[in-house]
Amino acid sequence: RGTTVRTWKHAPRDFRALLEVSRLHGDKVFLTYDDEHLTYEEHFRRAATLAHRLVDDYGVAKGDRVAIAMRNYPEWVIAFSAALAAGAVAVPLNAWWTAQELEYGLSDSGAKVVIADGERAPALAGTGPALIVTRGETPGGARSFADVLGEVTADVTLPPVDLSPEDPATIFYTSGTTGRPKGALGSHRNLGQSPMTVSYSILRSVAREGRDPAATAGQRRVTLLTVPLFHVTGCFAVMTTTMFTGGGLVLMYKWDPGRALELIEREKITGISGVPTNVWQLLSHPDLDKYDISSLSALGYGGAPAPPKLLERITEQLAGRAPSNGYGMTETTALAIGNSGTDYYAKPDSVGLPMAVVDVRITDPSGRELPAGEVGELCLRGPNVILGYWNRPEATAETFVDGWLHTGDLARVDEEGFVFIVDRAKDMVIRGGENVYCAEVEAALFEHPAVEDAAVIGIPHDELGEEVGAVVRLSSPAGPEELQAFLRERIAAFKIPVRFWIREEELPRNPGGKILKTRLRREVLGA
Ligand code: ATP
Ligand code: MG
Repeated sequence: RGTTVRTWKHAPRDFRALLEVSRLHGDKVFLTYDDEHLTYEEHFRRAATLAHRLVDDYGVAKGDRVAIAMRNYPEWVIAFSAALAAGAVAVPLNAWWTAQELEYGLSDSGAKVVIADGERAPALAGTGPALIVTRGETPGGARSFADVLGEVTADVTLPPVDLSPEDPATIFYTSGTTGRPKGALGSHRNLGQSPMTVSYSILRSVAREGRDPAATAGQRRVTLLTVPLFHVTGCFAVMTTTMFTGGGLVLMYKWDPGRALELIEREKITGISGVPTNVWQLLSHPDLDKYDISSLSALGYGGAPAPPKLLERITEQLAGRAPSNGYGMTETTALAIGNSGTDYYAKPDSVGLPMAVVDVRITDPSGRELPAGEVGELCLRGPNVILGYWNRPEATAETFVDGWLHTGDLARVDEEGFVFIVDRAKDMVIRGGENVYCAEVEAALFEHPAVEDAAVIGIPHDELGEEVGAVVRLSSPAGPEELQAFLRERIAAFKIPVRFWIREEELPRNPGGKILKTRLRREVLGA
């Protein structure tokens, strides 16, 4: 298990190499946004021109930070490519952040320039870094994207910068579900390997299903991006991989399942890639049958636990489509472990096998490696693991130990090497010294036909420290007694929630698909 292949000679050594490769796709359409289309050649020219402007007009030098604060517009991709081509560290900021949070991102990263859309521009004007604005009003003191770009010529080349694979390339902020967002510092090597890792995972799933990998080679993929580019799934699992392979990438202003159905039909989308909530909402859409979505062959999701009923729904409603579940973190440059095709049907509750470049280890709290089958902390190693956290030596030393990334997720590995995420280390209720993994109780609840969504939380208890509680959304009436009786046949008594909150509205999730348990706890407990 944990086969290590570190000999990919053809992974781009840095982003500039990846950008040069993407130029070879020439006149193929790379980015589509509404009625706008940008070919690979057009994208390259704009990115290279903007890279020169960043160097010449703004004095951006190797290692300087250039932040991006915008929706999924084509300019996001151009800005990202330009920043990296100029040797800068790209800092994609969360476009859902408030003005205060954006300011935190800018000052934490020490950005020299921020490239933003009109919606975010007012909040960013006067915060320190030079401001470049696209799609909207340009505040005083700022310049418009079009003005900075100026004339784009056919003979443009990248400005000269000497990069090594170990040089920092990106700072992505983690979702902050377990605390304040941390800036994850990724290298050029990290992002260079990501298209290979994703391509490998596709090849592997084809091969494990007994299909001929050669038959799928050369097919043009058109992906609908359902998640933001400022998280690693959108940026690496999808965007840079598309750049490398020459596929099409269809962007949306924001996720909207009805609009997604329209786009799948219109753009002949072959794959969608997002968080489980995206796929779930697409399949639950009342107009699903009204659209021709026959072009869609692959449904990939990850970044958050997939509801066990999702696979069932895909099988029922979209028979023949290849579903896959990927496990990844900001700290692993997206995909690290993946489950797809026949493997996924055989072990639907597993996140699958590690990617070829990834080593997996399960450890106890003292750092000792545990044998197969035992639950401990999931630790990962490989060229996809980032350099550390930006300006946080303590957090870096705690999380990255002797080359191993401590994920904070509790997991076990079976005899065949399949990884099962049991829970997040902190998403655990400790009831009278007994650990209750929320995810395990949630999975048991999901087996009940009426349960649409479920979140298990700890309730403060004087004697036990914590008791187990559950917030559930039901599709048909079911009382707490019935749910408890149902669980009694499946899990130990101490794990059964003593209190249920039945809700009609959706459970609060962040756009990454993760249930906001702190908020939920506050909502139901008022604490
Ligand atoms: P923070 O570290 O700031 O609290 P975060 O961990 O939510 O935020 P991300 O890096 O976006 O930020 O998320 C990584 C986490 O998402 C993993 O550690 C894991 O808990 C969860 N996760 C990712 N993919 C999957 C998956 N396929 N199944 C279950 N959980 C997943
Ligand atoms: Mg995390």
